[in-house]
Amino acid sequence: MHEVMIITGGSRGIGAATAKLAARKGYRVCLTYRGNRQAADEVVAEITRDGGEAIALAADVSVERDVVGLFESVDRALGPVGVLVNNAGILETRSRVEAMDAERLARVLAVNVTGSFLCAREAVHRMSTKRGGAGGAIVNLSSAASRLGGPNEFVDYAAAKGAIDTFTIGLAKEVADEGIRVNAVRPGLIYTDIHGSGGQPDRVDRLKDSVPMQRGGYPEEVARAILWLASDEASYSTGSFINVDGGR
Ligand code: NAP
Repeated sequence: MHEVMIITGGSRGIGAATAKLAARKGYRVCLTYRGNRQAADEVVAEITRDGGEAIALAADVSVERDVVGLFESVDRALGPVGVLVNNAGILETRSRVEAMDAERLARVLAVNVTGSFLCAREAVHRMSTKRGGAGGAIVNLSSAASRLGGPNEFVDYAAAKGAIDTFTIGLAKEVADEGIRVNAVRPGLIYTDIHGSGGQPDRVDRLKDSVPMQRGGYPEEVARAILWLASDEASYSTGSFINVDGGR
């Protein structure tokens, strides 16, 4: 199996862990990044050292021409995409809804929601058996926040992930008879830099006692669920969700 997998936001965190595991399983990986080229190149170098195949491409998923260009570049460099992992996502700093302005909301929705739609659109164009493709799988990154709501921290982000849940269900039904499965993973509190980017670098340790398993999760634990949903092992699963949240 030498299927092509695109992972958006693969320069660090869950995306980087997914890229490494995917390469070990024999996928030819394209990981993307927005700004941190050095981190993305380091992930590629590690994969290559381990005998895997990967490239890193810059693309802001919220910018339509970047997304179109990304998929065209992957067509040329690796061939038709078989798996898309819609992983790129952002949090803003802690805020109550009463203090959120339109610019913040636009940023959060553009990256987390519009970006996932645009990437999925390009993937469907290439995967759909009705368009001559060979089928494929899309795995979206939702969040436990879509159920919990993110009160006093980031209801905007949680609502964006709620949109990802609905998107997963709707697109799954839309393309189920075109050889494409669409599923999502809902991570809980995972040790990555996303919390620092949101101004709360110690967030996982601060909240981990509220997790039934009494600990935070690791990116590799999320990556394993993503890889299962992407694989033929999940051949009868579409529009479904795996919670990776220690029981939260
Ligand atoms: P992270 O460590 O902050 O990494 C985010 C990745 O996304 C980076 O590679 C970043 O690239 C990229 N990115 C950000 N904005 C982008 C954009 N506009 N276009 C393209 N790439 C962009 O995040 P993470 O914690 O691994 O989270 C990955 C996914 O899991 C996200 O969708 C997140 O919402 C979800 N999730 C995470 C947790 C958690 O606790 N960590 C929990 C639930 C859900 P650069 O490095 O170049 O900026």
